[in-house]
Amino acid sequence: MKKVTFYTLGCKLNYSETSTIGRIFQERGFEKVEFTDTPDIYVINTCSVTDNADKKCRKIVKEALKHSPNAFITIVGCYAQLKPKEISEIPGVDAVLGAAEKFQLVDILETFEKKDKAEVHASPISEANTFHNSYSFGDRTRTFLKVQDGCDYSCSFCTIPLARGNSRSDSIINVVRSANEIAASGVKEIVLTGVNTGDFGIQDGQRVETFYELVQELDKVERIERFRISSIEPNLLKDEIIAFVAQSNRFMPHFHVPLQSGSNNILKLMRRRYQRELYADRVASIKDLMPHCCIGVDVIVGFPGETEEDFLETYNFLNDLDVSYLHVFPYSERENTLAPEMPGKVSTKDRNRRADMLRILSEKKKRAFYEQNIGREFNVLFEDDVKDGVMEGWTENYVRVAAKYDPVLVNETKHVRLTQLNAAGLMEAEETYQEVLKH
Ligand code: SF4
Repeated sequence: MKKVTFYTLGCKLNYSETSTIGRIFQERGFEKVEFTDTPDIYVINTCSVTDNADKKCRKIVKEALKHSPNAFITIVGCYAQLKPKEISEIPGVDAVLGAAEKFQLVDILETFEKKDKAEVHASPISEANTFHNSYSFGDRTRTFLKVQDGCDYSCSFCTIPLARGNSRSDSIINVVRSANEIAASGVKEIVLTGVNTGDFGIQDGQRVETFYELVQELDKVERIERFRISSIEPNLLKDEIIAFVAQSNRFMPHFHVPLQSGSNNILKLMRRRYQRELYADRVASIKDLMPHCCIGVDVIVGFPGETEEDFLETYNFLNDLDVSYLHVFPYSERENTLAPEMPGKVSTKDRNRRADMLRILSEKKKRAFYEQNIGREFNVLFEDDVKDGVMEGWTENYVRVAAKYDPVLVNETKHVRLTQLNAAGLMEAEETYQEVLKH
């Protein structure tokens, strides 16, 4: 029995796909082992959004060969689709598979025999037009369920459409089936994941279903306690979705909505499909119906043409906005995108300074959000990570709660009252022994 191991870089989507490729290997009789257990095969799932994707890939290949010098090294993922030739030249790499090929990996490579030169199986991205169902499993208390892939937008900084192809989705029937399978395995929380999740519903180039319809059907899956939506574009976060989540017991009061810039000039250059006023309106709608809803924001600083005034517009916009945390990214050039050709390049120093300012703002926002929740009662779903005798769980509205480790609590939901923030910035809580809400 050949031994295989996996390494994932990047986003939740990659985690769900690695997990699915792992199950394909296991179904075909391979043994899944740890990275250091001298595997015969390594599968490294790469990301193109990560800075220094090339460097990271080389480092992991080197690391793998240290543990298992004769192992067969396979590279898949977004970076493999974008740069198959370059990756095939990394010393130690035996095979590179593109987006259309990665799920056929076991069939394509069959014997996993090393050849003189690395094999490259990467079709043009236009051929990655089928949807492959994926979910992560066995790695975490929650599961990332891929419902959509690819993107038809053309944001001027983004390389994802080139790495993942056009927007396409699973059918609602299939997603509900997957959710039931996941529930049967005992997982209580599902995070709906996609490249442009809110664009769910395109099959074979035609819109046949909508994200709102998906949410309504998933809400009926009884054994899943919690659904979260990983990230949704503001222009796709319609009032009907917000209203549905507000009355649902299963969809959590938590949204992650990319803003990218609070300056309309920059949003236009970024080719985003909304202006800041729409974003502010979405936040107001959410807070109107769910005052304690957690709202996370993605923001890019130092985009070409972003003046100090534009940045301060973003800063002030976010400062005034009732959001709970920020994910801040200093702009980073990507090949084959429009942005690097635009005038007004911002120095690395300024990109980093602006990012630092927003990260400090994020800490302030998060603290304020946590403090608003002190004294309130929530259900906390505890996870299996333990550090220094402390375990953590999450409230419905994504407040991270610390508790003394108790193995019985793992994957259990407890009703608690939030009491205070500890020195590590984690919320402390006391159990209220109230019956957890039944869904
Ligand atoms: S919406 Fe824009 S940023 Fe997001 S994946 Fe599509 S092109 Fe990239």
